[in-house]
Amino acid sequence: MPEPAQELPAPFLRTALPGPRGQRLIAADEQYTSPSYTRVYPLAVERGYGAVIEDVDGNRFLDFTAGIAVCSTGHCHPRIVAAIQEQAAKLIHMSGTDFYYAPQGDLAKKLAEMAPGSGAKLVFFTNSGAESVEAAFKLARYHTGRQHMIAFFGGFHGRTMGALSLTGSKVVQRRGFAPLIPMVSHVDYPNCYRCAQRPSTALASCCLDSLNQLEDLFKRTVAPQEVAGIIVEPIQGESGYIVPPPEFHRELRRLCDRHGILYIADEVQSGMGRTGKMFALEHWGVVPDIVCLAKGIASGMPLGAIIARAELMDWGPGSHASTFGGNPVSCVAALETIKLLEDGLMHNAATVGEHLQARLRELASRHRLIGDVRGLGLMVGMELVRDRTTKEHASTERDEIVQLCFRRGLLLLGCGPSTIRFCPPLVITQEQCDVAVGILDEVLAKWDGV
Ligand code: PLP
Repeated sequence: MPEPAQELPAPFLRTALPGPRGQRLIAADEQYTSPSYTRVYPLAVERGYGAVIEDVDGNRFLDFTAGIAVCSTGHCHPRIVAAIQEQAAKLIHMSGTDFYYAPQGDLAKKLAEMAPGSGAKLVFFTNSGAESVEAAFKLARYHTGRQHMIAFFGGFHGRTMGALSLTGSKVVQRRGFAPLIPMVSHVDYPNCYRCAQRPSTALASCCLDSLNQLEDLFKRTVAPQEVAGIIVEPIQGESGYIVPPPEFHRELRRLCDRHGILYIADEVQSGMGRTGKMFALEHWGVVPDIVCLAKGIASGMPLGAIIARAELMDWGPGSHASTFGGNPVSCVAALETIKLLEDGLMHNAATVGEHLQARLRELASRHRLIGDVRGLGLMVGMELVRDRTTKEHASTERDEIVQLCFRRGLLLLGCGPSTIRFCPPLVITQEQCDVAVGILDEVLAKWDGV
């Protein structure tokens, strides 16, 4: 058995990267896995604990990725491991679509009670974010009898055909896969950092522009009576961790209500405590009609869900289902995840997130490449620009910084054209944040005099 992992600090590097075992593993992997995967640096993982990842050569990294915002309770939290082991010894699969077992029912009850809004709610289980979005898309059409959907440029909702039709993030994700689902329109998502605020407007100009684009759409090309739903990320994730102005979601909710359009919140990345609240929309007091969840819901076990007002989920038996959705092992991991979030991790996300943002803002005062620091809780983005006036994206610089941090034992990912995202496990400490900021400080110095 390996020594007690929690005792071991990170970063700790003992070989060149990747080490010899890592090199062999990567070469073998690349011979047989799809070239569509986007590995940005050569990390071959052996195990993880808390906010630390250990590679196959014994190098230890501080993890600010959480496996793309998934391992919310930290890698292999002992309570999650115990819940999984206990359930796996009892029942691994029986299909919640056809049969009953307690973990699925218990989790449905918990999610229905937790989701914003006071009325009765129902839950449909999936295995991933894209599947949750597919389910929401289908339910919106089914319930309203309307066909059109609206999404936002920059929005990422997954890569299955329906979800991809809603995704408006990068052309590489859509190219070669046409025709996608018809009757989907996209409008701009408000971006305060890149907004030319007009003094005469009461709302932030970027917010007003998005709402005006929607109204324009309704006047020129799409009758609002034909729109089933608007899908929106409370904070845009893959496009750069963009936090909209506070009034945006409330105004969007009002617009949906005016036209009988369903408000679908894609909380796949922002939900499950990451922003310091269980659902990011709670920051603005907005109640959605349908919520999509996945990623952080089960600490790394594959699970997704949609939660909808009970009267909306009016599809009959056989209209939608999934063999694996609501798997009992994933469900117990989710129940334990929620307990851990409620027992303190959500609070940790809020307080440590604030600390992280403050430290990154301090860095911004010293390194001219940093254009903006933003976020909520532990969903934090740092946008890099070549010039603070023109805000030209520093994309190659961002990519190089991510590489250089990896070489120093800090795992980061990019998002959007030139943003570094910080989405660590929610167990991360202030001290670990300080170590990460120290590494970034060293790395960013390369661009100070340029
Ligand atoms: N929705 C959002 C907001 C996401 O960030 C993602 C993944 O990054 C998805 C949906 C798709 O999730 P998955 O990769 O589990 O299909």
